Amino acid sequence: MSGRRLRTLDGLPVAELKAVTPRKVPGLRALGIDTVLDLLTHYPRRYVDRTNQASIASLSEGQEGVVTAKVVRTSQRRLRGGRSTAEIVLHDGSAPLTCTFFNQGWRAKQFAEGQEVTVFGKLRMYRGQRQMANPVIDLVGDQTGRIVPIYRQSGKANVSSVELARYVAEALERAGAFAEPVPARYLAGLALVDRSAAFHDVHAPSDLPAKDAARRRLAFDELLRLQLLLVRRKRAVAESSVGLVHDTRSGGLVAQFVGHLPFELTGAQRRAIATIAGDLALPHPMNRLLQGDVGSGKTVVAVAAMLYGVQGAHQGAFMAPTEVLADQHFLSVRHLLEGLMVPDESRLGGVRPLAVDLLTSRTTTAERGRILGDLASGQLDIIVGTHALLTEDVGFRSLGVVVVDEQHRFGVEQRAALAEKGLAEPDLLVMTATPIPRTAAMTVYGDLDHTTLDEMPPGRTPISTRLLRWDQQDAAWKRVRAELDAGHQAYVVCPLVGGGAMEEEGFESEDLAAGEDEDADADADEDEDAGQRPGEDAGDAGRLSIDLDAERPPPRAAVEERERLAASELAGYTVGLLHGQLAPKDKDGVMAAFRAGEIQVLVATTVVEVGVDVANATVMVIEDADRFGIAQLHQLRGRVGRGQAKSYCLLLANPVTELAAGRLEAMARTENGFELAEADLDLRGEGTVLGARQKGRTDLKIASLRRHRDLVLKAREVATAIIEDDPELSDPDYHLLWDEVSLFVSEEERQFLFRS
Ligand code: ADP
Ligand code: MG
Repeated sequence: MSGRRLRTLDGLPVAELKAVTPRKVPGLRALGIDTVLDLLTHYPRRYVDRTNQASIASLSEGQEGVVTAKVVRTSQRRLRGGRSTAEIVLHDGSAPLTCTFFNQGWRAKQFAEGQEVTVFGKLRMYRGQRQMANPVIDLVGDQTGRIVPIYRQSGKANVSSVELARYVAEALERAGAFAEPVPARYLAGLALVDRSAAFHDVHAPSDLPAKDAARRRLAFDELLRLQLLLVRRKRAVAESSVGLVHDTRSGGLVAQFVGHLPFELTGAQRRAIATIAGDLALPHPMNRLLQGDVGSGKTVVAVAAMLYGVQGAHQGAFMAPTEVLADQHFLSVRHLLEGLMVPDESRLGGVRPLAVDLLTSRTTTAERGRILGDLASGQLDIIVGTHALLTEDVGFRSLGVVVVDEQHRFGVEQRAALAEKGLAEPDLLVMTATPIPRTAAMTVYGDLDHTTLDEMPPGRTPISTRLLRWDQQDAAWKRVRAELDAGHQAYVVCPLVGGGAMEEEGFESEDLAAGEDEDADADADEDEDAGQRPGEDAGDAGRLSIDLDAERPPPRAAVEERERLAASELAGYTVGLLHGQLAPKDKDGVMAAFRAGEIQVLVATTVVEVGVDVANATVMVIEDADRFGIAQLHQLRGRVGRGQAKSYCLLLANPVTELAAGRLEAMARTENGFELAEADLDLRGEGTVLGARQKGRTDLKIASLRRHRDLVLKAREVATAIIEDDPELSDPDYHLLWDEVSLFVSEEERQFLFRS
């Protein structure tokens, strides 16, 4: 095997490059570049084709384009809350252009009058002026090449894109040819360029097709490393762990449970339960992902899985990511299991009611003591709780089946903690709260088997979803009053709790994601080749007219909104309040009153997201809907449309970014969670989809679950073939490939990989 190995480059400090002066080292470090390998994998976030630029005057309203122009004037405007906006006026001889950078005031200081810059963005006419909002902007530098790579830079690092290109050029020259880690037989038919071409052309392509080919190759390598790890882990779990063999042929408890349900299972639920029964009967532990849209009935499937364990005298655990969700799951699980009996020889008649309990940090010490005792003795069959269930002092008599209801948060450590709770490793069913895209499922949950509930229970009615700007809110309240007058109920959801506390709750991750569109680099990183794909807009149907100059109003708080609505738009109706900071007892009281119809309107935070099931509620108003993510909006909307009557979802927002507007448009377009998940991926990229489960070097730097959907599938195929061929990782053919996997994977994953 000849050629440069990546590991060698990783051993070479970037400071050893002649072009890198000591003064630049801290800035490079700030960009995450310590070694030559770091530098070569600091890929351009996009490219400017200098032969293919527009003049400012030639761009029409709504058109995207790259322009090169001189800076005429810069200014910075401070807004409330420490935020600031920069305005940079450019001129290219054909017309002036005003670039506005919301929340990026520092941009004003980045450029000086007379400098030449390249700008990529969408032209808007505003009060007769040409404008671009948050465009991608870079100093041009004096390169003569036609295709100029643009690297990620930041205000702090003080390393320019031009400098990075110079360092990379030296690194490439000194590296020479690269070794090929993937045996040729696997690359055949994939039409991928070799490693040397890939590293050269990703940084210094002679034309745009060359950089596309380079990026595909490097993306494939990233995805292959990840899939090797996942397929290997899946196999290791299957082979090395000792699991329980559950008897799933005698229907027993599960048959009793299904027979007692007030409805027929859907075909999808039936199939999922049969698949799970098959897994449970095998000697190695189940590791299965159950996906299904909101309301597809995952809970019933999860309960059936736990009952297969219970009927063999084992126990079930149901873990939720938050206390609120644990509470809600507990209520629905307990409700579903009412009346079921399990064998108990110590009781008269040889049976006792199946026992379910809840364990969270709110459980009192005395209760906790009793619950731990019952878990240890086996008097408790099913426990619902948070990750508190994984703590050391929680011991089971025989933990059989574990259900984890959450997205992205159950990793290697948690699984290891579970394995220590019994002699045998319990069977594991992971459920996602909302569907995730196929490529993401294959990546984030690539070490699990997959089942999808692709059928909704009958009886849900379509929901009419409308987007309303704040100046149109009257229409929302009119609809709410009409529904209330017809005897129905309503939800009003606000992003904040309020009452002075103003503590945001429930939507932390999504709102961070929503905030990302204002982040300096996030939008620029969105699409590295956006500049070459003008006008590829996903249709104009239902577009909100986005007034980017409009101020985004401060977020509404439930406490204050309830006061306001009860005194104005909804005066005369009973308006209740629900949020996470109420005492549990008060929360239960409010929910009971809403269920009983004593409260007509429930003003709430996202605590109503999951588990609340009131069929008589036919309208939901979501205030500041632009502050929520798609998955969360979808969950919230799932609270209505549960009965026979027509239902409405009204999204109130003045979105100030195209991304936020895109999310709301997607919500109005479809009710299908799988379609929304794909739309979310298209809009936001994969960062938030991958979440915390991929950290450090396993981050996908160049592969995109969105643009490389086909490569994800191919990488999976190749990884599976390689692991089948060489499960022991011993074949010299794969030596370099495995070495790269260990070079790029995090310590945590490496331990897992090389443990077995
Ligand atoms: P998910 O967790 O998938 O969002 P749930 O398990 O909470 O969905 O179920 C949503 C609602 O549908 C619950 O009220 C549940 O009792 C009901 N349900 C589940 N399965 C069926 C079915 N086959 N037919 C009718 N209703 C069902
Ligand atoms: Mg549910």
